[in-house]
Amino acid sequence: MAAKKVLVAGATGQTGSIVVHKLRDRNNEFEVVSLVRSEAKAKEKLGSMDGVVVGDITDRASVDQAIAGCQALVILSSSAPVMKGPPQPGQRPEFEFPAGAYPEDIDYNGQKNLIDAAVAAKVEQVVQVGSMGGTDENHYLNSLGNGKILIWKRKAEQYLIDSGIPYTIVRAGGLIDEPGGRREIIVGKDDSFFIPDSNMPHKLPRADVAEVVVQALTEPHAKNKAFDVVTREEEESAPTSDFAALFAQTTPGL
Ligand code: NAP
Repeated sequence: MAAKKVLVAGATGQTGSIVVHKLRDRNNEFEVVSLVRSEAKAKEKLGSMDGVVVGDITDRASVDQAIAGCQALVILSSSAPVMKGPPQPGQRPEFEFPAGAYPEDIDYNGQKNLIDAAVAAKVEQVVQVGSMGGTDENHYLNSLGNGKILIWKRKAEQYLIDSGIPYTIVRAGGLIDEPGGRREIIVGKDDSFFIPDSNMPHKLPRADVAEVVVQALTEPHAKNKAFDVVTREEEESAPTSDFAALFAQTTPGL
């Protein structure tokens, strides 16, 4: 069977670069196109420049060029707040977004560009990674730089569902940089894990998010599903190996 051609947006990001390496490791199954903003960062994070396309999700023409001939799209791009100067002693650090790179620009309009391009290119599946917390408009992440990041990400999720393309929406808990494949992955919905100051599981390694993304590209049960995802602590239970069973627990709709 011909390899499935997949565009990864946010390919030089912390999770996006892991996805690119995992897809490349399964090179009989996938052909990877990596959309990057910086060639230098691509060399550093991705090694080989095979399939690397320089562009920007806010520039529709570059997205159209990158997505041509792809059967799937993975969205791992994101806006990123930056600290406003050095933190003052005893005060919480303040954050802002660079001009033109607010969540509305990147997480909504940029994702709309990606999704519209995917519709035009007749892409068969979009795997979109977002964040837990989107059911609470007063979540503190929305106040960072007054960017309302979770609100814009959630609107982009609805836009994807409304596009009619088969979707997999992966809303991650707090991301950590630990090895993947060592924890039980658990799925939920509507921020059911998101109970502040509780002992609910709420985090997961970026490598496990990347594995969920890669598995979603082949598992039929992952299509037209949206879910929250976290992991248990390593010692609590056996690591997840049956992704078909995991996706079977997930449900359609936002
Ligand atoms: P990350 O490292 O910040 O990567 C974001 C990527 O987006 C980068 O590669 C960046 O490009 C790219 N990007 C930004 N603007 C772009 C543009 N205009 N055009 C093209 N690419 C653009 O992300 P992460 O930490 O892996 O997180 C992955 C996802 O999980 C994000 O959606 C994040 O919000 C979400 N999440 C994070 C947490 C957490 O605890 N941090 C929790 C839950 C969910 P460059 O490489 O050029 O900068």
